[in-house]
Amino acid sequence: MGMLAGYAGKILRVDLSSGAVSTELPTEEKLRPFLGGTGYAARILYDELEAGTDPLGPDNLFILATGPLTDNLVPGGGSLSFCCKSPLTGGWAEARVGCDMGGTLKKAGYDFVVLSGRAERPVHLVITDGRAELESAEHLKGRTVLEKNALLKESGYSEYDSLVIGPGGERLVLFASVMVGHRAAGRVGCGAVLGSKNVLAVSVKGSGKVVPADAAGYMKAVREAHRIVKESPNTYGFTELGTMGGYEACDAMGDLPTKNWQSNSWGKGARIASHFVEENFTGGTGCYKGCPMKCGRKVHVKDGKWKTPEHDGGEYETIGSFTAYMLNEDVDCAVHCGYLCNELGIDTISTGGAIGFLMECAEKGLLAPEMTRGLDLSWGNASVLPKLVRMIALREGVGDILADGVRRAAERIGGGSEAFAVHVKGLEGPCHDPRAAKTLGVSYGTGNRGMCHIHPLETVAYDASKFDFGLRPFGLQDPEEFHRWEERGKGTALRILQDAGMLPEILGTCKFYMYVGITPREYAEMLSALTGWSITGEELMETAERATNLQRLFNIREGFSREDDLLPERVRSAPAFGTYAGNTECSVRDFDGMLDDYYEARGWDRATGAPTRETLVRLGLA
Ligand code: SF4
Repeated sequence: MGMLAGYAGKILRVDLSSGAVSTELPTEEKLRPFLGGTGYAARILYDELEAGTDPLGPDNLFILATGPLTDNLVPGGGSLSFCCKSPLTGGWAEARVGCDMGGTLKKAGYDFVVLSGRAERPVHLVITDGRAELESAEHLKGRTVLEKNALLKESGYSEYDSLVIGPGGERLVLFASVMVGHRAAGRVGCGAVLGSKNVLAVSVKGSGKVVPADAAGYMKAVREAHRIVKESPNTYGFTELGTMGGYEACDAMGDLPTKNWQSNSWGKGARIASHFVEENFTGGTGCYKGCPMKCGRKVHVKDGKWKTPEHDGGEYETIGSFTAYMLNEDVDCAVHCGYLCNELGIDTISTGGAIGFLMECAEKGLLAPEMTRGLDLSWGNASVLPKLVRMIALREGVGDILADGVRRAAERIGGGSEAFAVHVKGLEGPCHDPRAAKTLGVSYGTGNRGMCHIHPLETVAYDASKFDFGLRPFGLQDPEEFHRWEERGKGTALRILQDAGMLPEILGTCKFYMYVGITPREYAEMLSALTGWSITGEELMETAERATNLQRLFNIREGFSREDDLLPERVRSAPAFGTYAGNTECSVRDFDGMLDDYYEARGWDRATGAPTRETLVRLGLA
């Protein structure tokens, strides 16, 4: 298809303001240092965005990014990422979704799609085998995610893979998601950026083929990766239990943020998890055709007040955000809220975090009467949750304040609420707690997109569960050398975990395969045969390091510095109740010292947090 073996070889550019469509051929010189996905997208955004660009203005870019291993044959290769400047944090934004659409985009001839400008009226971007057109999407306006998908199918797009935004994206909720079916690319507001551009849907159909440089060698490396996955003892847990399989253990180890992070454990983990398995779970599923691990869950609420049709959902982060965060023991209601968030196209973690924050504001008497009229915001009150989800997505009443995230909500509510608005760089915290594993605190503090559950979640498995991801040959220290609550001397470990955790998004795969034996070596084998380049695991780790640094440079250009590499006081403090109540060993005592260790390992200036000149030269970013 393109000139580069293993790639589709083209970038599609669509100027939504003028309707102009063009294609560009990336060169090996530009592509190889970043390879693809969130790495190459960082290069585009760094090169083409001006500092201070309004994230919801026409000058922001929205990128659909595949990686070279985005291929349903590769374990985890059903993947698509979205990158832009975040309206929630004002910094680097990326969000990934598991789906068939990434592979289809490559078959249609494109590795990347870059959207610029703003359409005057709602549009649907249709990409068909190397051709792109903008159609009216007036009929989709205001519709939920399932309704939009049904309308697309009815209007002739049943053979296309489509993404849509929900009403939350149309109303510019700052943590609106991009939805592919009922799977979400959430967190940092990519759905709001699409909404600001008046793009309600993108559909793709492709019949081409990406040709590997060494087809036999590629298939051999792919088969070897599948063998490793099949033989890993960890695969069973993902397939049988999905991410919710960890709920009880997270509660026990102090990794479950509870009551707006007042504690790191709840003591209800076993009951919540068993209700989910017995009442809500209906079967395992994959987010793309051919995923060998299929950790996705089909869930429903069969009957009762929260009756909910079967859908893809019930992930650990969603259920945690709608149970422990606000002391809600009604798991059916949590499943229902997850469904509503998906239907309305808003992020489940930030929505749950915002509601937990609101309940604490109410408890402390900080809310004006007009904000709470008709709402019982007592801790644990399930009945109010679905109502609040709708109010956030539709920006109604107090939901309009929460729709801008807890950082801005605290600025408006005042009364000292900043102290318990849990976020980093504006992104609400996910359902893992650094009081279980100290490296997670620095990972949260330094995350390019903020308090992120993706880059890297691996710190908990490393620090607390002593899992090394096969990264010891790349310099990772033996996790047994550290206690999970030890604070100093873990900077290098965190750097290596972060870089390894960055790789799947660069290559276009699912990171859960790192937990079942796929290391940079396996990725390098597949990639070398695919592209014809001779790539080592070490080169891949350096590529990830380069991407991490470039995304950081993007943030620095937007004004971020060491002062933004924070961990909220609430999260550093000894838990107020639960298994670890008052335990000062699990509290984060020397965050600055840990940050120093990490900066040292990264080659970043201790005072500013910027990569040193030496680091930039070493990575070819000078
Ligand atoms: S392992 Fe799970 S998250 Fe990853 S691609 Fe498969 S179903 Fe999706």
